[in-house]
Amino acid sequence: MVAPALASPPAHDGPRYLHAGRLLADPASGQVLSRMTVVLEGGRVVDLRDGFVGTPGETIDLSDRFVLPGLIDSHVHLGHENGPDDKLLRTVRSAADLAINGVRFARRTLDAGFTTVADLGAENEAIFALRDGIAAGKLPGPRILAAGNVLSPHGGEGDLFGYRDDVTRALQRPNLCSGADDCRRLVRQQVQRGADLIKIVATGAVLSDADAGVDQQFTDAELRAIVETTHALGRRVTAHALGRRVTAHAHGAAGVNAFLHAGGDAIEHGTWLDDESVVLFKRGGTWLVPTLLAGETVAGWSADPDSFLSPAAKAKAASVGPAMLSMARRAHAAGVPIAFGTDSGVSRHGDNAREFGLLVAAGLTPLEAIRTATVNAAAHLGLAEQIGRLAPGMTADLIAVDGDPLQDVGALRRVRFVMRAGVVHKDQREVTCTVGDFC
Ligand SMILES: [Zn+2]
Repeated sequence: MVAPALASPPAHDGPRYLHAGRLLADPASGQVLSRMTVVLEGGRVVDLRDGFVGTPGETIDLSDRFVLPGLIDSHVHLGHENGPDDKLLRTVRSAADLAINGVRFARRTLDAGFTTVADLGAENEAIFALRDGIAAGKLPGPRILAAGNVLSPHGGEGDLFGYRDDVTRALQRPNLCSGADDCRRLVRQQVQRGADLIKIVATGAVLSDADAGVDQQFTDAELRAIVETTHALGRRVTAHALGRRVTAHAHGAAGVNAFLHAGGDAIEHGTWLDDESVVLFKRGGTWLVPTLLAGETVAGWSADPDSFLSPAAKAKAASVGPAMLSMARRAHAAGVPIAFGTDSGVSRHGDNAREFGLLVAAGLTPLEAIRTATVNAAAHLGLAEQIGRLAPGMTADLIAVDGDPLQDVGALRRVRFVMRAGVVHKDQREVTCTVGDFC
């Protein structure tokens, strides 16, 4: 069968020459070069040259734009956006519905300049089909690393609440375990189903009806079993991959610290991390993904008198939201490694770059904020030798924006050009905009 018409065009044959007015090739150094040519071939960067060079007809003119590596969001949920009908929708929507949502949201995410994402939790296998379809060039979207189901203890955050017993049984997913051996089995099963990384809930969450607080849920023994099993199954069959990672949703300090003691690779949210957490993060080089945009979004919902949140969720949202910004400020000041993640799906897909402004509000410089979504997120996801900077041999994932994001990080919300793996996805070079975010 012929590939569908939706398929992206193949990466261009032969070299192309992209003229960058200003170029931030490696956010780790922070050096901005003027009037540079990025030479591209076969979906990769092959050279960076001074000045504008290249064969006429094979050039891409971004000589009046700021060019930087494609952005990475290490925490999204591409299958849905949270809303008032979540509880009902869980009973009626199919894997096909979620796949169709995913096609729309993946495109929106790539439009916003995010060329790689980690999907940290989906109801079913639709996310794997979306990942594979995008990788095969059948539809536009970011490169996806997919966790599949979020692992949870029975009766914990990833279990179901508030349904009739028979409905609960019908909706149950293969994501629950109790006891170390059972949790080992579940990790292996997730990897068998296609998970690129493992996501667990180490503490209670905001957006659930579980009135069980926001602290530790898995036992220490279960956490150790999950981390050991994930790392033992670590080697993915791809070049340069450093192995499977396990990351944990965690708000309360006891849950954060228990997971860090167990050897986990990253913490999502981290709302009430404490002094011990800071020491453990730094000692292990463990990544914190602060998801400030999710905090801002749920705080907004809880303040709304007509909020759709349940009373339990509303109380949790009111306290978690505001705490996140001060947590990120404190963690950054203490030198905790930070990787970019928005939890989009809580906020709207495509608004991911709003996180940059919140990171700057938490004390990061614009360059430090850009590092979180490039070199840091690439290292966090085990892809540091492929994405996150522009250098010979790296994947040709790059974007161009209006203005200078090192002066005004809001420029990252004005993405005019997106290339992923050498394929031009978005080209709005003719659009000029200097005022506001939405012109
Ligand atoms: Zn999430």
